[in-house]
Amino acid sequence: MSDLKARVKQLASEFANDTVNIRQHIHANPELSFQEFQTSEFVKNTLKSYGLKAKNMAGTGLVVLLKGRNPEKKVIALRADLDALPIFEKNDVAYRSKNEGLMHACGHDVHTASLLGTARILSELQDDFEGTVKLIFQPGEEKFPGGASLMIKEGVLQNPAPEAILGQHVFPLLETGKVGFRSGMYMASADEIYVTVKGKGGHAAIPEMNIDPVIISAHILVALQQIVSRVASPKIPTVLSFGKVQANGATNVIPDEVKMEGTFRTMNEKWRAEAHVKMKKMAEEMAEAMGGSCEFTILKGYPFLQNEPNLTAKAREAAESYLGAENVVDLDLWLAAEDFAYYSQETAACFYRLGTRNESRGITSSVHTSTFDIDESALEIGSGLMAWLALEQLNNSN
Ligand SMILES: [Zn+2]
Ligand SMILES: [Zn+2]
Repeated sequence: MSDLKARVKQLASEFANDTVNIRQHIHANPELSFQEFQTSEFVKNTLKSYGLKAKNMAGTGLVVLLKGRNPEKKVIALRADLDALPIFEKNDVAYRSKNEGLMHACGHDVHTASLLGTARILSELQDDFEGTVKLIFQPGEEKFPGGASLMIKEGVLQNPAPEAILGQHVFPLLETGKVGFRSGMYMASADEIYVTVKGKGGHAAIPEMNIDPVIISAHILVALQQIVSRVASPKIPTVLSFGKVQANGATNVIPDEVKMEGTFRTMNEKWRAEAHVKMKKMAEEMAEAMGGSCEFTILKGYPFLQNEPNLTAKAREAAESYLGAENVVDLDLWLAAEDFAYYSQETAACFYRLGTRNESRGITSSVHTSTFDIDESALEIGSGLMAWLALEQLNNSN
């Protein structure tokens, strides 16, 4: 084993208890997106105790430069997110949320604690790498417009500009001890769709006097699926789902209007923009052809997340050398959205998953549930692995 790898493992293990305590402190004190005031202050002070000075960005976000030898040579960014969710925690644990109704149910406490562990490891190794590590603690991953987009707007990818960015996310489907990678498209863009179909309401027994928005909406709902099945390339994953359809008529009353809400997800920015235009045109013109009208509004969410193939291959190789090839798995496409995608639209990015499941201890709940938790031994792995990936990227690539 290389000396440096052994040193990273030793430091990760030495700091593991502290990293767990940090995670439990953050877990017990969750704050909502863009309101991570105490969390941000806590992270800043913890960094200070490692001799690192953080700068605020995008409100509660923090950026730290950790310099090695020849700091100008190359920069790599490592990212964590700070926010929690409006969920009432049902776990009966000592570190249960003290803020009723709020919970770290997406593991952002884990990401933050892990990145602090990574920072501490790297701060001990500043003579052992060339270049600069830029640590990014961003606010508001869970809430539009996404802390990542605000951090980018405020220049987090400039001065100095990282040539690559790494992010990790807990993954309760994967056993603790394992990590997962996927090259190329990984997570979806997610846009919200709001449709109002207008007709002319009246007595259900006299259709000739009405313009029925219910039937128009039914046609639109079915026709829009053609965008997915006949217009989208089968090589680009595309999902269109409407989870809310509201027509407030009665058995004998045709309503004036129908409202529908849905989500559109895909993995190609060009197709995404085309699909928006096609869906809107189809819905509006169909309604018009049937004598009604349609307002079709799209709220653009996060873009799709692309893992840059070269960087991902290198990171995966480094992970195999750190954890053993048997502990590094291939990830499937994942149609959820994640604001790390904004970084992946700007620079070479790799977003990988950290196994946090422990079946024998009953730790299996998925993220965004009131019983989500992790096997905390994942923290030693997460903090050490990210330090190792950064070191390998800085020391070995040209
Ligand atoms: Zn989440
Ligand atoms: Zn998350």
